[in-house]
Amino acid sequence: MNKFEALKKYFGYDSFREGQESLIDSILNGQDVLGIMPTGAGKSICYQVPALLLPGITLVISPLISLMKDQVRSLNQAGVHAAYINSSLTENQISMALANAAKGQYKIIYVAPERLETYSFLEFALNASISMITVDEAHCISQWGQDFRPSYMNIVKLVSRLSKRPIVSAFTATATTNVKEDIICVLGLAGPNVLVTGFDRKNLYFEVKTPRKKDEELVSYIKEHPGESGIIYCATRKNVESVYELLLSQGLEVTKYHAGLTNEERKINQDAFIFDEKPIVVATNAFGMGIDKSNVRYVVHYNMPQSMENYYQEAGRAGRDGEKADCVLLYSPQDVMINQFLLDNKEVRRDMEEDEIKAVKERDVQRLRDMTYYCRTKECLRSHILRYFGENVYSGCGNCSNCLTEYEEIDVTDMCISIIKAILETRQRFGINVIVGMLRGEKKAKLLSYRLDELQNYGALKEVSESRIKQVINEMLMKGILQATEDKYALLRCSEQVDEVLKGSYRIQMKISEEQEKKKTSQKKRTSDVLTSKGMDLFERLREVRAGLAREEALPPYIISSDKTLIDMCIKLPFTKEEMLNVSGIGENKYQKYGQQFIEAIKEFMGGEKEQLYFEPVEEAPGNDSGSSIYKPEKRNKKKEAFRLTPEIEERIVYLPECTMPELAGQLNELRDERTMKKTSGAAIERMLISRSYLEERYIDGIWRKIILEKGKELGIFPKTRISEKGWEYEALYYSEEAQRKVVEMIREEVLV
Ligand code: ADP
Ligand code: ZN
Repeated sequence: MNKFEALKKYFGYDSFREGQESLIDSILNGQDVLGIMPTGAGKSICYQVPALLLPGITLVISPLISLMKDQVRSLNQAGVHAAYINSSLTENQISMALANAAKGQYKIIYVAPERLETYSFLEFALNASISMITVDEAHCISQWGQDFRPSYMNIVKLVSRLSKRPIVSAFTATATTNVKEDIICVLGLAGPNVLVTGFDRKNLYFEVKTPRKKDEELVSYIKEHPGESGIIYCATRKNVESVYELLLSQGLEVTKYHAGLTNEERKINQDAFIFDEKPIVVATNAFGMGIDKSNVRYVVHYNMPQSMENYYQEAGRAGRDGEKADCVLLYSPQDVMINQFLLDNKEVRRDMEEDEIKAVKERDVQRLRDMTYYCRTKECLRSHILRYFGENVYSGCGNCSNCLTEYEEIDVTDMCISIIKAILETRQRFGINVIVGMLRGEKKAKLLSYRLDELQNYGALKEVSESRIKQVINEMLMKGILQATEDKYALLRCSEQVDEVLKGSYRIQMKISEEQEKKKTSQKKRTSDVLTSKGMDLFERLREVRAGLAREEALPPYIISSDKTLIDMCIKLPFTKEEMLNVSGIGENKYQKYGQQFIEAIKEFMGGEKEQLYFEPVEEAPGNDSGSSIYKPEKRNKKKEAFRLTPEIEERIVYLPECTMPELAGQLNELRDERTMKKTSGAAIERMLISRSYLEERYIDGIWRKIILEKGKELGIFPKTRISEKGWEYEALYYSEEAQRKVVEMIREEVLV
């Protein structure tokens, strides 16, 4: 049997995904590997396929008991002999399992790291023929990681004690350099094949909303997605309880999960979710570790989480089956305060030194700041996430709420100056509402009682809307020009950056959405968009068959088969064994177990005749290949495409002796077909130049400044002093005619948002 045969026979898949093949080849050649892939990318296949082909046993060290159980169940379903050894078993069960293992009954054994130093396990391991040791969640070995586990050190000891060193393969979804180096070094990987696949999860749609009423927003979102499985994450137990009550009162099938429930309750609720009895769970971040439910169609964060690491991990629980899924974050500025409170009260490990505690706290604060930045940015959310995790991306993805909103970039420096003056004039004693009221010249009692109407800046921004001033203040908070006190008053304070702003040497650009209240719908493709109504009926019928099988075997339905597999059945309508084996996700063993029952159900439903039960797929937009989809998502029809430089635009550009990038971008925007194409911006183009090392962004005196690098100077970029509308001097980057032409050439190939 070769790797392709193993993949087809046991897992029912026709081809490998990105990165899988390279890692498998290395392992089969006896080389150690480190696979760094995001959740849902398919790490398990990378060690399970070689485990089947290597002569001896593969030990998989995993910290998550529930995940082990799931994996072993899935493997057994696929016809692979596997077992797990952890504290959920009795001593008796463990001895039995080890006895069976010693007899060579299992090809793959999952084991918790704590087990590795027990006498009974060592006795088995030292006498067994172990071909490979796989370290799952390998970041747990790193002190730098978020969840360091001392027991992971046992792995190193075990490897050194075995008479013949097995191949060591390690896998994680954490990509930071420190962690990577730690894993290689601590595990002693020998000349490993280190493979990092992109962190992008193309099937996930990202959205941030700042709703006035979160509850209404949440309920309407869920009601727009009936029958779909979703997770609602909340910051605190109290939030979980109230959101749970809210959803119950709306008649939704929902369960809840947090650390305040008894073990028993948690188990019952978790199972209700996994078994699809209650498709929605409201939970704290205690929920989800080790849960492998593949058909989660949305993850909504009712509160902002504490870090991007947390966010991406939690949101990443959506769409593990590779089908479209939504990750929606409902942000409110209050979330920052809740999280600040949670961090302040976080328990610290008792063995930590004073300065270690300080370092950890600082890191937490920075992480929270980065998370907040994500919630407020107007840039592509996906690019933002990927950049955070160290990938160099600069163009928009076209599949996040920011890419789908049209923004206009405007200079708000003069408005910022008025805001700063108002704050200084009131001696930094007020919060956002009073400052906005004062700038708008409102006649509210509170303003008048403080006699703010007698001040110079009262009414300075009379003609600007309240929401616009608030947006600008938020932008200033985000850029660190202003700070809010961390108490409940959130008084606005100026940072040292205001000097630069007042002098006019720091210009503030801001993206403002053109259609504020535009309703965005996710790009998610629903099953009903793929299948005709008769197809949907068959899909429902097959779900019933699956539910019946699941009950008989006491397994979660998704372990029997994924939704994706059922949809593929509705498309391919298999009547024979051959045809059934052609369905994605059906291997030999699955066929033996359930194939006939599905075939019969399909034949009966179709009355023995075949007819097409799906809509013809529409060509996919370029650069948006979801790879794993069995059907192509429909192009967003009414939505505008991201900016692209077409030959028609290029022909008509007028090159000036010199200009700034916002000016050039303005020209490009004028020339584009505004009905079909969104605007680009000077900032987007300069981001590209940064990624290509013409420019660099450096943090100097509390401000991100663009520096012209050697390559940029050669290109023809130079600094020049300008005068603002209000007469302030500031420095801007200028492009020579030659440089403008070169830049246009560069963006020919780019999608710019
Ligand atoms: P990870 O451990 O990286 O989070 P998993 O190993 O759980 O991801 O895989 C996620 C999903 O992708 C699973 O449902 C798995 O069966 C599926 N999968 C993995 N490899 C392939 C492949 N080559 N073709 C199709 N589906 C795959
Ligand atoms: Zn995007």
